[in-house]
Amino acid sequence: MHLTNGSRVVIVGGGPAGSFAALHLLRFAAQANLTLEIVIFEARDFNRPGPGGCNKCAGILSSTLVANLETLDLELPAEVIQAELNAYVLHSGEAEILLHRPNSGRRSLSVYRGSGPRLGTSPTPHSFDSWLLNQARERGAQIRRGRVQTITRSEHPVVATAHEKLEADLVVLATGVNSRAPLDAAWHYQPPQTEMMAQDEIPMPGGFLTDRVHIFFDHPQELIFGGLIPKGRYANISLLGRGLPPDAISDFLEGNKLTKFFPEGTPALCGCTPRIAISAAPKFYDERLVIVGDAAVTRLYKDGIGAAFTTAEAAARTAVQRGISRRDFASGYRPTHQQITTDNLYGQFLFRIWAATRRSPFLLNAWRRAILSEVDLPKANQIHARVLWGMFTGDESYQKIFQLSLSCPALRALWQGALKDWRGK
Ligand SMILES: Cc1cc2nc3c(=O)[nH]c(=O)nc-3n(C[C@H](O)[C@H](O)[C@H](O)COP(=O)(O)OP(=O)(O)OC[C@H]3O[C@@H](n4cnc5c(N)ncnc54)[C@H](O)[C@@H]3O)c2cc1C
Repeated sequence: MHLTNGSRVVIVGGGPAGSFAALHLLRFAAQANLTLEIVIFEARDFNRPGPGGCNKCAGILSSTLVANLETLDLELPAEVIQAELNAYVLHSGEAEILLHRPNSGRRSLSVYRGSGPRLGTSPTPHSFDSWLLNQARERGAQIRRGRVQTITRSEHPVVATAHEKLEADLVVLATGVNSRAPLDAAWHYQPPQTEMMAQDEIPMPGGFLTDRVHIFFDHPQELIFGGLIPKGRYANISLLGRGLPPDAISDFLEGNKLTKFFPEGTPALCGCTPRIAISAAPKFYDERLVIVGDAAVTRLYKDGIGAAFTTAEAAARTAVQRGISRRDFASGYRPTHQQITTDNLYGQFLFRIWAATRRSPFLLNAWRRAILSEVDLPKANQIHARVLWGMFTGDESYQKIFQLSLSCPALRALWQGALKDWRGK
């Protein structure tokens, strides 16, 4: 079962995973002297401000993803970039930990997925998803606006919207986790488990540096962590927690004393409660079907757009270079999915350790001292800063962070930090 000249690939969902799948397919096909017909169905208009035109995300592009864009000859236009992120500030209780970008050669950026907040003012920001989808169009993919209602399992899958039916040689499903995947029951698809997040946009608080992401851990009680991410004139608030209450955003703003920047009331400019994937889909390929991005697997709590790139690349490479049968995807694509799933186990463990640490002022102080003691070392040797930076940005794999945090220099610095704290120095 192979793609041949003129084969039709239908991609359902034109978020990052769908657009990357098209771009990778076109690149691998060109290398193999193959001409494919690629059709992407996308339900949203990303040029509409507010939740209706947006794939609801904090919009941080990890430095790995920014570097990966170059492999597809993609250059992000200046108007799509909302901020260069050079530092993270972690806030827990009264403690603040400042982390500078460990590698000045690697850029991390913030973007808008749609066209900015619902109640924003003109000019509206440029959308990353719209730009990416346009790149796929310019390189030969056809884009059709519309919601796919069913994908029927038969010898050649049939993709149906309210207005048309298309038979496909291969279907790439990239519908994320915020809408129902339109696969009919015969595919036996089970989506990943998800957690609910809360998001809003506020005007960028005066006095905040526009190249710093602030991460908070304390309010509301159900919070795992919440971020304030600079995006041009605005700041995005993204909260991750278990069972967040309906007033989570206002509790977050008040509890973390962010309301003081807005004496006349904090303007909430958008507001949504998207889902984030926290596990992998158990069945993510079949004959003539491959599932990419969030709908298959993503990285735990970070760099989901990076995972969309990685899964789309592995699926496209397999489809062009090996074939489109279940067996081909099992040998060519499954290992990438497995690698992300395994790495997330390290991530779960690290987040548990971090939660325990930040509940103990003694440990938190020891960690702060360990970071301060690294300041004069070369960046590569600033292990604690790299560990925390990697955990919150996606710039390193969780496995690498795990190994770094258990390395001798890391444990020594922590031990020395704890001793100093204990002696009250
Ligand atoms: C609050 C929050 C904050 C996040 N912050 C970050 C971050 O800062 N950085 C990061 O890298 N990741 C972040 N993520 C994760 C990131 O949003 C996802 O990993 C990423 O969007 C996955 O891309 P995707 O293309 O798989 O899915 P989506 O981005 O969800 O795209 C799916 C697309 O499919 C379309 N679609 C769905 N069903 C149909 C249908 N039946 N027919 C036609 N079209 C359809 C949708 O309209 C959508 O455009 C965050 C997630 C959340 C919830």
